[in-house]
Amino acid sequence: MSDDIRVRFAPSPTGPLHVGGLRAALYNYLHAKKNNGTFILRVEDTDQKREVGGSYEYIEESLRWCGLIPDESPSRGGDFGPYKQSQRKNIYKKHIEALVEKGAAYYAFDKAEDLDMHRKNHEKKGKTFIYNAHNRLKLVNSLSLDKNKVEKLLKRVPYVVRYKMPDNKMVVFKDEIRGKIEVSSRELDDKVLFKSDKMPTYHFANVVDDHMMKITHVIRGEEWLPSLPLHVLLYQSFGWEPPVFAHIPLILKPTGKGKLSKRDGEKFGHPVFPLEWRSGDEKHLGFKEFGILPEALINYMALLGWSKEDTKEIYSLPELMGLFEITSVGKSGAKFDFEKLLWINAQHIQRMSSEEIIKRLSSLNTGKKFNITKEAIDLIKPRVERLADIDIDFGYLFEPQKIDPSLEKKILNDDSKVFLKDYSSMLEKRFEGAPQLKEDLGQCSKIGFGKSMGAMRLCLVGKLAGPDLFELMIFLGKKEVLKRIRSVIA
Ligand code: GLU
Repeated sequence: MSDDIRVRFAPSPTGPLHVGGLRAALYNYLHAKKNNGTFILRVEDTDQKREVGGSYEYIEESLRWCGLIPDESPSRGGDFGPYKQSQRKNIYKKHIEALVEKGAAYYAFDKAEDLDMHRKNHEKKGKTFIYNAHNRLKLVNSLSLDKNKVEKLLKRVPYVVRYKMPDNKMVVFKDEIRGKIEVSSRELDDKVLFKSDKMPTYHFANVVDDHMMKITHVIRGEEWLPSLPLHVLLYQSFGWEPPVFAHIPLILKPTGKGKLSKRDGEKFGHPVFPLEWRSGDEKHLGFKEFGILPEALINYMALLGWSKEDTKEIYSLPELMGLFEITSVGKSGAKFDFEKLLWINAQHIQRMSSEEIIKRLSSLNTGKKFNITKEAIDLIKPRVERLADIDIDFGYLFEPQKIDPSLEKKILNDDSKVFLKDYSSMLEKRFEGAPQLKEDLGQCSKIGFGKSMGAMRLCLVGKLAGPDLFELMIFLGKKEVLKRIRSVIA
């Protein structure tokens, strides 16, 4: 494996993996594999108040289900571990001290109530309080106090470490998707890098780890773009070469307005998480339980924001690994389109062997009612959108179904019953392959071919749907077909 390209997916374990996170993981994975590089899973668990039990295991399991296996991770290990930030406290401590030493960061002792008061006073005057070059000398920190006092305070009271934001500097950097970006440091504040609980903040840990883990490309959601100027400045303060950045646009609600949230799943009636998630009273169905194949989910997520310049839409993971280019990711947010995902899912189901489908079904645990055979899957494969439908929508393969009452009235009149009688007598004598069954139906159908087919469908399926009628008859067999027709006539 080449050491050149190293990317990381760096979730915080604050809940299940959302589709946005999954897409970030996928783009990182594809970028690594395309370039024969390394895909790392790093857990950013420095905000322990927000941590939700079971999230890390969930994220790992989801990545595994999707086939996005990290080369280095907390459970796999690697040369740059530990891969959980909570286990890297010493590394951050050493680096924060170095930054203070360089004069790029400083200790701040302001009490939360005092900062609150400053905020309120500013608000009253219609202004916003920003901790920065403009006022830092009027606040309580190692820049405004004398050395002895600072030494004493460091031993006695809780403190944070803040970044000493340059007063008036143009921060210029490039994003692979957004292009060149310029931000004035005047718009930025002296961000806290190290908290009073002796844990680094996201910004600090993220930059230190990306450097220490030799990350070459940071591919993540656009919501982190506003943090990038600070990250770039941190690299400069350390004298480190920054990685290449690519901020991928948001996944939008199906309506296009705003970011897709976990509540949208319930609202629009589809999952937004890969696997089922349970925590306390919270319970969300996953794509897996909904009957979506991981191959299809990956395919769909890849196309959500990225495209090759051709019309092909169905890709396998290895194909994507060969084709993906981070620079071809679009700038604008992509609407989540569940119908499209279902269509892609159906395409993958059709391409999958019936044996494999049976295997997947058995791992689905839907409390299956029927013993689904290869022949049954062969018959219905072209119509299946979701694996979970196989049990729900295709019960007619295994047992007689209740007839839709509105259709019963409309279609099963005296004339069509005469047809059913004639056809069943014919079938009694000859039941011989789909073409013959079709021809015989034509022979008996005084009410017209279409109406006869409809009557037969109601007998066999219970509604006007299902696979090719004659193939279905062969599948069910003579005895079952006659039994169903007769029970309808009666
Ligand atoms: N821990 C951040 C998150 O949860 C990671 C952002 C990044 O990739 O830098 O999204």
